[in-house]
Amino acid sequence: MLRTRWTIGNWKQNLLRGAAEDLATAVVGDLPEPVAEGGKQVRVGIAPSYVALDAVRPWVRPQGPLFLFAQDVAAQDEGAFTGEVGPAMLSDVGAHGAIVGHSERRIHFGETDATVARKVHVALEAGLRVVLCVGEGLEIREAGQHESHVISQLSAALSQLPAELVSERLIVAYEPVWAIGTGKTATPRDAAAMHHRLRAWLEQHFGPAGADRSILYGGSVKPNNAAALMAAGDVDGFLVGGASLEAEAFLQIVRLVVSAA
Ligand code: PEP
Repeated sequence: MLRTRWTIGNWKQNLLRGAAEDLATAVVGDLPEPVAEGGKQVRVGIAPSYVALDAVRPWVRPQGPLFLFAQDVAAQDEGAFTGEVGPAMLSDVGAHGAIVGHSERRIHFGETDATVARKVHVALEAGLRVVLCVGEGLEIREAGQHESHVISQLSAALSQLPAELVSERLIVAYEPVWAIGTGKTATPRDAAAMHHRLRAWLEQHFGPAGADRSILYGGSVKPNNAAALMAAGDVDGFLVGGASLEAEAFLQIVRLVVSAA
């Protein structure tokens, strides 16, 4: 089976509603053909702030072409959890899914592996898509422990997940923390090696349903490095931060993902 290739823009804590609407309009207006036609093999998503999700709703349809993600989701369905936004609320506002376990959530907001695991479970069970982020910090990479660290994050997030929730709605993103927003990128070879390792774990635990998951790379992806990363093999697209805030840069990356063999 051909894995779905994704390009997803993480807008982080940027853009007021009007600017979010303008950026979504520019992106949706120039999507390359297989995406614009709603093809299943190449997909594009954006992740605005919670309060801007509604502003981009006019382009949101159940089957795209533009998929809408929140940048996080609560670890429980509903209840007395001040400040949290649950999966049903996201569906209600038109979101297709959520990013879960981004390193900025883990580092700045103390999100633990256990919380990430609950969020993945709750969101998938509620019918959302999940972009599960894993990735190592610089010291871990320099100590040569990056593979075991990233696999332990993946295992913590997924090993208790019921197998029936492992479907195309689960997307994994490998994002080395030292490459996020720094201008440094993993070499295509290093990215491919980690993706290979992640896929092997997914296959071992979930069989073909695990092996077929889209695994995205994230960390200073730009139009000038996207082609080489795609060519490395085992990279099924990108989670893009900074470059996703400019329509043309983001669309160039989308085009490179679409045209990758
Ligand atoms: C991200 O935050 O997911 C990300 C990859 O950011 P950047 O592209 O800016 O490194």
